[in-house]
Amino acid sequence: MELSGPDASAAAQLPSTYAALAPFRDYFRGGLPVLMYHKLGPRPPGVRLKGLYVGEKLFARQLAELRQAGYDACDFDALAAGAPAPNLRVGISFDDGYVNVLRYGLEPLAQHGFQALQYIVADNIGGGNDWDLPAGEAYEPLMDRAQIGEWLAAGHLIGSHTRSHARLPELSPQQAREEIFSSKKKLEDLFGLPILHFCYPYGLWDARVRDLVIEAGYRTATTTQFGLNDVATSPFELRRIMARYPSWGLRGLRQRLFGHRAAR
Ligand SMILES: [Zn+2]
Repeated sequence: MELSGPDASAAAQLPSTYAALAPFRDYFRGGLPVLMYHKLGPRPPGVRLKGLYVGEKLFARQLAELRQAGYDACDFDALAAGAPAPNLRVGISFDDGYVNVLRYGLEPLAQHGFQALQYIVADNIGGGNDWDLPAGEAYEPLMDRAQIGEWLAAGHLIGSHTRSHARLPELSPQQAREEIFSSKKKLEDLFGLPILHFCYPYGLWDARVRDLVIEAGYRTATTTQFGLNDVATSPFELRRIMARYPSWGLRGLRQRLFGHRAAR
């Protein structure tokens, strides 16, 4: 079978965020999907970006659906070598390094046999999502060193999400270099393993930033651009699909109120 690129017309038929496999089943055959998660478990009161939380049960159901459909976790390190991932692979990634991913994610990941990658904000280990607070977002604790060790010991991966969750294109060349290079070094020194994977905070990057990521020795970098990855996709511009809880949009609300008949 020939690998087809991410199909814009197919993507246009899809919801822009992933809650269940069913609507994406055909689309996922066109390349490698990398799911983007942030936080797992119950949403504390006062959260503004509600979609960034996926409940524990929904997360487990998403993994179960993928497993039942024959999916296995992609090997991010193999992907780094530029090898096209075989079909029926899916990348599972978490941004920021929240404690709630460790608390609510380890068990379902183990149960369904998926490996996942968490992107760590190197200067906020054991701290919180400080960068979110000025916009009024609720505080959420980030894994400390021991907790990241626990995550790694369970067979999962970590990558860098800069030192301070920086808006990289807005920084001076020196500052951008510092965020990209020294976060890698810091994580490598703390955990004694090579840090090969990078994630652009806020999905913000430009050619200068991407080239620094390459120069620093990372082998992949993920964006927040919706879509699949195929042989033509740069490993430093990987697309992702945001996994979130199903929100009650107008269609969902109608479906909920009037049941299945109205949905057809
Ligand atoms: Zn982030």
